Amino acid sequence: MSDAKDPASGAGEHQKLDKMAQAQFERAADVVELDAGLREILKHPKNEIIVNFPVKMDDESYRMFTGYRIQHSNILGPYKGGIRYHHDVNLEEVRALGAWMTWKTALAGIPFGGAKGGVNVRPSQLSSPELMRLTRRFTHALGTNIGPEFDIPAPDVGTNSQTMAWMMDTYVNTVAMVDRTRGRGVVTGKSLSCGGSAGREKATGQGVCLVIEAWAKLKGLEVKNLRVAVQGFGNVGYFTCKIISDMGAKVVAVQDHTGAVVNPKGIDVEALKRHNAQTNRLGGFTGGEDIRPEDFWGVDCDVMAPSAIENQVTGKTAPAIKAKMVVEGANGPTTPAGERELARRGIDVIPDILANSGGVIVSFFEWLQNRSSEYWTLETVDAKLKGLILTAFDKTVKTASDRRIDFRTAAYVVGIKRIAEAYKERGIFP
Ligand code: NAD
Repeated sequence: MSDAKDPASGAGEHQKLDKMAQAQFERAADVVELDAGLREILKHPKNEIIVNFPVKMDDESYRMFTGYRIQHSNILGPYKGGIRYHHDVNLEEVRALGAWMTWKTALAGIPFGGAKGGVNVRPSQLSSPELMRLTRRFTHALGTNIGPEFDIPAPDVGTNSQTMAWMMDTYVNTVAMVDRTRGRGVVTGKSLSCGGSAGREKATGQGVCLVIEAWAKLKGLEVKNLRVAVQGFGNVGYFTCKIISDMGAKVVAVQDHTGAVVNPKGIDVEALKRHNAQTNRLGGFTGGEDIRPEDFWGVDCDVMAPSAIENQVTGKTAPAIKAKMVVEGANGPTTPAGERELARRGIDVIPDILANSGGVIVSFFEWLQNRSSEYWTLETVDAKLKGLILTAFDKTVKTASDRRIDFRTAAYVVGIKRIAEAYKERGIFP
């Protein structure tokens, strides 16, 4: 978990995320000739909640914070999406992230809608007790705008299972006693002891790796021969590195907000993790060579996995990319200019709404387990995750080939069609 988001990547170009998300949606809406009324509805989030709340700091002073929760769509089920703690969190960013969750859950075929939230804060500058008070006040301020059958948050950048435990505990203490057991399902991404699911922590990275494997098969390549470069060494980045190297591939470069490290023979991921835990940076790792963060994009590799933050594969960085495929572990890492450059050079892009959907898929399993007070084995979770994400992958590939469109537009088409079908049968109230 990290709260960093700085120009260390040398990405430069910064896109308004909500404009980017809208343009992606419009492109797919054109392909399916989406009804004008429905197009208008889906362009807007249903609810935008902004809360300002005080937090008592360790020195007894009070600071005001602003938190957001965007509920984009609940046509297919409860609103669902992460909570981000970051100093760049703003309404436009959360709007885009909320809409992406709608397309992601629809594409995955799980009964959830889309939402996202966040607090504008630098979590590394707060002590653990301050973070706990912030989380509890934010949860309290959201009140009944969240709930296990209504809107279900999860971890994202700058938050983790501890954040979810505080959210869940605050929520269940504010509802009626008879609703407290059921209330545990208000958040997913909890630790096992708080009612989480086996396999949830690694699920997003695991999904990224399953998708890399499926793409390799499609191209007649073997995972064990792939060289993979990963941006981000947080939840998604680390588990992508770990799982893909367990599958036999070589992780040849890793970059985060502190620097970048390269080793063409393959990085020992666990050793890098220990080094990072001890030093709080990637640089200075004896199992590889330091490179300038901007040189990360030009590293020799087959797969590039931007798994940190948005706006990284840009008109400036994309020309350097040597990979055959970009797999979006992060949400919104590729700008329109970056995407045009990759398309021009025939580099495949496996879009975020497919590539990083493993997290929300296992969140769905966690929610189901909470509802029936069950604990599934890791084997069960892994097998079910594989089944759902590969189905979404196959549908995307087939749609792309049938309609001669790129994978991102195809993934949107699958999701939008599911939503349009539900609207068609239900009608629009009144
Ligand atoms: P995290 O906080 O655990 O890690 C973020 C990583 O990004 C850190 O390694 C940090 O150093 C790196 N980073 C930050 N700024 C950077 C910069 N300027 N240049 C290079 N690296 C930088 O967050 P996470 O949970 O791993 O989320 C990463 C991305 O994946 C986000 O886009 C998030 O929305 C998305 N995502 C996360 C999940 C999940 O389950 N956690 C699920 C789906 C999508």
